[in-house]
Amino acid sequence: MEGSLPVAERPRRPEWMKVRAPSRDGRYFEVRELIHGAALHTICEEARCPNIAECWGRGTATFQILGDTCTRACRYCYVNSGKPEPLDPLEPLRLAQTAAQMQLEHVVVTSVDRDDLADRGAAHYAATIRALRARVPDATIEVLTPDFLGVEEVALQTVLAERPNVFNHNIETVRRLHPRMRGAKASYDGALALLRRAREIADYDVLTKSGIIVGLGETNEEVVDTMRDLRNAGVDVVTIGQYLQPSAKHAQIDRWVHPDEFRWFREQGEALGFGSVFSGPLVRSSYRADEQRAAATARSY
Ligand code: SF4
Repeated sequence: MEGSLPVAERPRRPEWMKVRAPSRDGRYFEVRELIHGAALHTICEEARCPNIAECWGRGTATFQILGDTCTRACRYCYVNSGKPEPLDPLEPLRLAQTAAQMQLEHVVVTSVDRDDLADRGAAHYAATIRALRARVPDATIEVLTPDFLGVEEVALQTVLAERPNVFNHNIETVRRLHPRMRGAKASYDGALALLRRAREIADYDVLTKSGIIVGLGETNEEVVDTMRDLRNAGVDVVTIGQYLQPSAKHAQIDRWVHPDEFRWFREQGEALGFGSVFSGPLVRSSYRADEQRAAATARSY
């Protein structure tokens, strides 16, 4: 890969990035059977998330709708990129049924980007929320959406009409690195505008949320600048976690951010007024999303 270091010179994974392997303790295998049995995708598996043993072990997972193939190719993301299959209209029903079987109290739904669809997948998100409301009426629902390239207003109206409890869109990285990491279709200011508009459109109590990956070449000050931009866009919840290079073809890790620096990010975020800041080496956007939501809901800010 262009600019990559020889293997011997790459930074070694530090102790604090070590995770446990899946075990028979907890619900890991039950969750896997339910998800695979329903032919559903999860970002946990598609993105090779390091927290899968922990999250599935505690009976949670993050569903990935709209198929397993993304029309974008971000430089940090392991999700398969290419020409997607046609939509599966029964996916929302199977997902809701599986959420009920898992007894989820907080359901997190994300997706690949579908720039090939006229509505970028917004109606499928809406159908998924409706199916969940019918099948698990007491559960709270979080959607982590793409940027709905070019049809943002209609797509937001479609999704938010179903009143998800949390609207999440990840800004992913700092302004300077955004074009290089996300490509020409995505934009830093577009992500901020989407989050700001979601807050404006929602005529009900919704939490807005976004996430930042660190270790891609940003400085700590740029991370704080990004948090400030998110807070100015009205975002309530922010997550910050360490980038892990999923393959030799992906962007190289620039640095291992120390747990003390993650603590500093959290303090800076709290000082900026976020309702919840989840910042840590293994934090991901959907990591303990139920607790992130509870923390932001409990805190008056
Ligand atoms: S952090 Fe999110 S993506 Fe990773 S295993 Fe947990 S629920 Fe899945």
